[in-house]
Amino acid sequence: MMPQLIPPPEQVMEMLKKTGGFREGHFVYPSGRHTPHYFQMPLAFRYYDTARVLAVALSRKLRLEKDISSVLPKVAIISPSPGGIPVAFGVREALCAEQIYWAEREEGKRMFRQYVNAGEVNPCVIVDDIARSGDALLETVNLVRELGAQVIGCGVIVRFNSAPARIDDGAEGIPVLSLVEFDAKWYEKEDDCVECRKDAPAEHVRF
Ligand SMILES: [Zn+2]
Repeated sequence: MMPQLIPPPEQVMEMLKKTGGFREGHFVYPSGRHTPHYFQMPLAFRYYDTARVLAVALSRKLRLEKDISSVLPKVAIISPSPGGIPVAFGVREALCAEQIYWAEREEGKRMFRQYVNAGEVNPCVIVDDIARSGDALLETVNLVRELGAQVIGCGVIVRFNSAPARIDDGAEGIPVLSLVEFDAKWYEKEDDCVECRKDAPAEHVRF
């Protein structure tokens, strides 16, 4: 059998399910929102083999972009948050990119963990494990631009359809590449929640 160079979405979801990175049921977020599905991507990334397959697959999608492949290895891989660090390291390795950075949210503002100066940062590819709203990607795009660096691509393992498929930059936008596009369901109130109506016991989750 020919190995799949980029595993199809169903296969990625199967890997996430098997590792506990994706669960179905009845979950309540700290915000009070209810949902029938729950992703905890770090559970998938605790297994080195899974982490590697996912990161290599994403790197192959990124490499197909001419804006990225034409400037390798002078590229910086950027994670918007600590959650994306395993993805960033995996993608960096697969692309042989020169630099890696990650950001954190401190006092409500996203900042690079590293002290960096304008001019030091290569053209940037932003990668993350999951995009739910796309806010983290957008904030990171702005952060990179404040440093005077260029964003040449974005990629995530899972993109909720509530996150944009392109980061708007005025022109045609930067596409957000993903291995899975997920049809996310949220219920703002218990009354609207299908699982609540079934009396399904709810699990309160932290993230
Ligand atoms: Zn509910």
